[in-house]
Amino acid sequence: MLFIFPRPFSSVSDVLLRGRRGVITNLRREFSIKSLILFVFLIITAEGSLSAPLVSKDLLLFYQDLHQNPELSLKEERTGAALAKGLEKEGMKVTYPFAGTGVVGVFNNGSGKTVLLRTDLDALPIIEETSLPYASKKKAINKSGREVGVMHACGHDIHVTNLLGTVRNLIKYKNRWQGTLVVIGQPAEEIGQGADQMIAGGLFKKFPKPDYALAFHVDAGLATGKVSYVSGPVMAAADSVEVTILGKGGHGALPHENIDPIVIASRFVLDIQTLISRERDPRAPSVISVGSFQCGTKPNITPDKCLLELTVRSFTKDERTRLLEGIKRKAEASSLSSNAPKPLVELTKEAIPATFNDHGLTARLVAILQTSLGKDNIIQGSPVTVSEDFSRYSESGIPSVMLFLGSVNEKRLGALRKKGNLPSLHSSRYYPDAEETLSTGIQAMTSLVEGLLPPG
Ligand SMILES: [Zn+2]
Ligand SMILES: [Zn+2]
Repeated sequence: MLFIFPRPFSSVSDVLLRGRRGVITNLRREFSIKSLILFVFLIITAEGSLSAPLVSKDLLLFYQDLHQNPELSLKEERTGAALAKGLEKEGMKVTYPFAGTGVVGVFNNGSGKTVLLRTDLDALPIIEETSLPYASKKKAINKSGREVGVMHACGHDIHVTNLLGTVRNLIKYKNRWQGTLVVIGQPAEEIGQGADQMIAGGLFKKFPKPDYALAFHVDAGLATGKVSYVSGPVMAAADSVEVTILGKGGHGALPHENIDPIVIASRFVLDIQTLISRERDPRAPSVISVGSFQCGTKPNITPDKCLLELTVRSFTKDERTRLLEGIKRKAEASSLSSNAPKPLVELTKEAIPATFNDHGLTARLVAILQTSLGKDNIIQGSPVTVSEDFSRYSESGIPSVMLFLGSVNEKRLGALRKKGNLPSLHSSRYYPDAEETLSTGIQAMTSLVEGLLPPG
């Protein structure tokens, strides 16, 4: 019955309405018994499909429970355990915990290739401001000891549920594919550590090494029912850089006796933007933003130093090297121009490589999705300057593709855009329309695995 998947869950009522409206027209035109029989048939068919929707009630409750109970990076014990339990129930061989709070599920379905599906598990330190009945009210202590709200503002709860729903489908209809399915619940995506942690923990040595790796990420600006793709570089590399500008502190009323690090640091902040506006090839996007500028304690004290924290985004290794070397050069030049000591420029551990969607695999997946979801629902997107540690899997030599899943109902999306009030991912007001998002996501991901692992 589900061999050709029904359209998204919301369309069940559409079918019902369309059926009713169509029959009423027929009744007006012909008023024949034939039409009445058709009417009864349509009602029965529509109600029959209501009993077996792609997003079952328990899956929606699973999602709402995750949404209500988000966990920060590296603390995903409850989320990991819930996914592990769910996968085990569907018949997977599950290892949990793995490499921290990671989950690995394996289902061997005969000889053939191996596909890896990845979900992330973690949430963000944000106080949720949606009006959902299942909004998170959770609080946690962050690594600086401060109490923060916790919220699934990046849709990782959708990713977890989507993975579970896909596994359920694939195991239920296992005669439609052949090979090995490996699924992973990856911790700490938001701090760029989890993928690295799982690979270092032996993901590709202790479990079947995948021929392909796939993941979805929700898109806050794409309508439900649609999937978008980019072939090649899709998400930027992210580096965090700490720059300490050194000066010579003293009384603020005696500047000639001091070396003012605030003036040097200010010059540096403006100067590094010329690495983007004057030294970069304008056809290759990249970003430098200063997110933190800390100096001084009091109006009449010139401090000894300033600490600046920068995020750097780039799509190629050459551009990344150029920016990081450029930041060091500009910092040293700013200090030298004031006769100040040499500044300290340090790359922090958060470095994430650029995400690259394998060209050949992307083309295959797009062709599969055009058949399973319809051509109009598959949109070619553009690279974005946010980053993802999914890049680690392609960096390990596995052809990988990350696709974007529409998550806001078309009507709501239009209304929010009209008001100029569309929340992005990581916003306290962002929430996906879960049923519709999952319906398309599960249908799409199932078709992708079946397409990559054909039987026989
Ligand atoms: Zn995020
Ligand atoms: Zn995310």
